[in-house]
Amino acid sequence: MFEEIVRFIRQLYGNKDYIPLHAPCFIGNEKKYLNECIDSTFVSSVGLFVDRFEDMVAKYTGSQKAVVCVNGTNALHMAMLLAGVEPGNEVLTQALTFIATCNAIHYIGAHPVFIDVDKDTMGLSPTAMEHWLQTNAHIKGIDCYNKNTGRKIKACVPMHTFGHPVHLDKLISVCQKYHIELIEDAAESIGSFYHGKHTGTFGKIGVLSFNGNKTITTGGGGMLLFQDEELGKKAKHLTTQAKVPHRWEFIHDQIGYNYRMPNINAALGCAQMENLNIFLANKRETAEKYKEFFTSIEEVTFHTEPQNSQSNYWLNTIVLKNREKQQQFLEYTNEKGIMTRPAWQLMNKLKMFKDCEHDGLVNTQWIEERIVNIPSSVRINI
Ligand SMILES: *Cc1c(COP(=O)(O)O)cnc(C)c1O
Repeated sequence: MFEEIVRFIRQLYGNKDYIPLHAPCFIGNEKKYLNECIDSTFVSSVGLFVDRFEDMVAKYTGSQKAVVCVNGTNALHMAMLLAGVEPGNEVLTQALTFIATCNAIHYIGAHPVFIDVDKDTMGLSPTAMEHWLQTNAHIKGIDCYNKNTGRKIKACVPMHTFGHPVHLDKLISVCQKYHIELIEDAAESIGSFYHGKHTGTFGKIGVLSFNGNKTITTGGGGMLLFQDEELGKKAKHLTTQAKVPHRWEFIHDQIGYNYRMPNINAALGCAQMENLNIFLANKRETAEKYKEFFTSIEEVTFHTEPQNSQSNYWLNTIVLKNREKQQQFLEYTNEKGIMTRPAWQLMNKLKMFKDCEHDGLVNTQWIEERIVNIPSSVRINI
């Protein structure tokens, strides 16, 4: 069975000896824009590509404003600050995520609380969250508190795992009921839509990542998405050292951050954005091929996009029977030069977050024991 899968993946990716999990694809104006950038000498934190990249992403996602950051992790940090998360607050999130989500919460001095995921989305479950809140939270005035710890529950950070949108309608209604701010970690989900609306545009703030392994890349990079233009302007100010605009004076009106993406990275971003729809169509085709192939493999299920959603299929995912099969599959494929990987070690199992509160995480553990990500690069120029 494993042999058959390896043969199929090899055939899909041009019979290469080594097949990575997700390699970037440069088939457009990348070199041209990088040259323009160097010729202009504006390679650093000022330049035309920065504004252009922000406009392109704002337009594509349907956001009022988009603000670039050096990477997705500090975009998340910025999102926490701008949403008003304060030291000692609690932030609800999932344990099945990349470390950046939790690190950003910790940078603020806030405490993550891990809520279970849904099996169909593999992202934060609104049902589990409501259930946890019913037992553990109480509302005082316009704020929500944890009955056991006495801390304010300020925000909730769902993550659209591998590009699959979480159940946003239900999540929004739970957040509203309990006065909790919604921040979307959409780092993996550029090009993913829920009811036709782009992920990262449902909450107060959304965060994208353009790291080298994501659907499009700027080398390293991130973006904040806002539906409130004023908040977006505040983000621009904070991410650029809170410098008051002036032709020669250096005056700063608060503690700011040097989180702005350099022009040279934004140049790459503009070229990548021009081809995003081509990449997405190609990734969708790959997912279709996988889906069809895996119907014939009885012991494996291919994970498909949830209802009412269009996923970017950033990382294709299969579900095996149990931990033993999962480990055997990882061993076999990596031995054969096909890069596959399990989910991240769950956040509640890492030593920094092992004492954090959680709700039992039944689905989370079920998923962690069974899933494997399989090669998912855009199949153009391979
Ligand atoms: C990639 C990613 C980020 C951001 O990572 P950076 O490398 O800092 O851009 C954040 N959250 C999740 C879930 C991610 O996958």
